[in-house]
Amino acid sequence: MLQVIEIFASLQGESSYAGRPCVFIRLSGCNLRCNYCDTSYAFEGGEWLSVEQILSEVEKHNIPLVEVTGGEPLCQKESIQLMQALVDNGYQVLLETNGSLSIAEVPAGVVRIIDYKLKGSGEGGSFAEANYQLLREGDEIKFVISDREDYLEAKQWVEARGREGLNLLFSPVSERLQPELLASWILEDALAVRFQIQLHKVLGIS
Ligand code: SF4
Repeated sequence: MLQVIEIFASLQGESSYAGRPCVFIRLSGCNLRCNYCDTSYAFEGGEWLSVEQILSEVEKHNIPLVEVTGGEPLCQKESIQLMQALVDNGYQVLLETNGSLSIAEVPAGVVRIIDYKLKGSGEGGSFAEANYQLLREGDEIKFVISDREDYLEAKQWVEARGREGLNLLFSPVSERLQPELLASWILEDALAVRFQIQLHKVLGIS
């Protein structure tokens, strides 16, 4: 059984999949406390559902792309079985994780979107280094940037550790850093990353 906050369909707001219809499964619980968190309602509570019950909810939306998110979905061990079941049922599966817990057990076929925590989040240094070796082609590293200091930290990571096949995403923390400013820094440095803003927030949807 998994503790589930909500299951809903929306447009994917971030990542290389932005703009695509997607079913979101938001699991309860998080081991971090980022100072810009907009999903603190997912820290606890939710309804206990079996993998089968979740699958049947997802099926109702008739959308092939599914994201398992939180909170931090890997806090619940059974999230692994859930992702496996989604893959086995032919869904394209994304996992949004804060990178602080091991991704070793995440099933093949799942795209891992790692929200790499920078200093400005208040949870800098939480990335589990062992995860770096486990990254595979198509995985994504998302840097949510609060200020110039965060930008420079993210840039340094990209230059030192970015590699072929990894999608690197830079986005501003909303109401903290002007998107135009971040875009100008990326251009100035001709950094090989993808700028993005939270599309769902621009559209005013979940
Ligand atoms: S990891 Fe995500 S859900 Fe957890 S506190 Fe940070 S932003 Fe919120």
